[in-house]
Amino acid sequence: MNTTNRLRIAIQKSGRLSKDCQSLLKQLGVKLNLREQRLIAHSTNMPIDVLRVRDDDIPGLVMDGVCDLGIVGENVLVETQAERERVGQANAVKKLSKLDFGYCRLALAWPQELGQQSKDWFNGKRIATTYPEILKQYLADENIDASVVMLTGSVEVAPRAGLADAICDLVSTGATLEANGLMQGDTILESNACLIQNANLNDDNKLSLINKLLPRLKGVRQAKE
Ligand code: ATP
Ligand code: ZN
Repeated sequence: MNTTNRLRIAIQKSGRLSKDCQSLLKQLGVKLNLREQRLIAHSTNMPIDVLRVRDDDIPGLVMDGVCDLGIVGENVLVETQAERERVGQANAVKKLSKLDFGYCRLALAWPQELGQQSKDWFNGKRIATTYPEILKQYLADENIDASVVMLTGSVEVAPRAGLADAICDLVSTGATLEANGLMQGDTILESNACLIQNANLNDDNKLSLINKLLPRLKGVRQAKE
């Protein structure tokens, strides 16, 4: 548990969400001294500490109360929730707001030379993904009997490398799929970054600070529209 009296926010250290997270915090008026390599950055004008970690760790840190807030893609949030559900670990969070960055979709894809395929084609096939829980749920819902190959990176090369017949991966423009000779199929999940809060947070000072930040966040989002 975060037992300090400073509000602790987990954001991605480096990757597709980090720049947007940093500029969002700035727009909310949170001044930070973000020196490279530092795990924790202390705000100089508010009782806030920012923890910079891998995005995959963010939902768990918030679910376990190590951090009070976190910014993470819905894809990672949903996958972590399902994974924790399966193993019986705490997985509740309060979703405070959807954010206007990090848009992507989790979609199926297969080698272009195979042409259009129906869902039936996936029966008996191997599908590589970093999101096994979300994919398994989709396969169960659609009555598809395929096997799931878990890969933590370079999923798009799996068919060419003979590791799988198809993939289920994150797509934003589709350029990566195209560069790897893959054709895009059904979207399984649409995702944006979102702001989450520990479900059991009951520290009045932290809650009132969050209540001060949320209207600012609303203002930032409206200004963007
Ligand atoms: P980390 O080192 O933190 O684990 P990562 O390589 O897993 O980083 P990134 O590639 O930086 O993660 O992506 C972070 C998040 O950005 C994704 O989980 C997703 O929510 C979002 N995102 C937006 N567009 C894309 C995209 N085209 N491909 C992958 N992720 C995307
Ligand atoms: Zn990651």
